[in-house]
Amino acid sequence: MVSQTRRKARNDLNELYRKMELEKDPRNIAFLRAEVRRIKKQKILRKVNCCDNEKCQEAIYEGQQVIKVGSDGIYCNMRCWAESIGAITIEMGEEQTCSSR
Ligand SMILES: [Zn+2]
Repeated sequence: MVSQTRRKARNDLNELYRKMELEKDPRNIAFLRAEVRRIKKQKILRKVNCCDNEKCQEAIYEGQQVIKVGSDGIYCNMRCWAESIGAITIEMGEEQTCSSR
């Protein structure tokens, strides 16, 4: 019974992080983060590490799917990793051109 509860929490957590990665609307991201906190508060999953994105540093739990980049560390998702190497989302204007041309 316990393991089933744990499996569900694990699946829910991974699902939320996947959604967070694709979500663009900050309001929806905030909602998803709140849902993640709700699962963490249940204290079903054991904390095993932390996200290496300095701005995030969120706890990482057993069973959580994370992004690992060489020996550089582990990240909640692609978004956290991209942020850690300085990637940002911008809106393209006419003045920006493809850097390979
Ligand atoms: Zn993170």
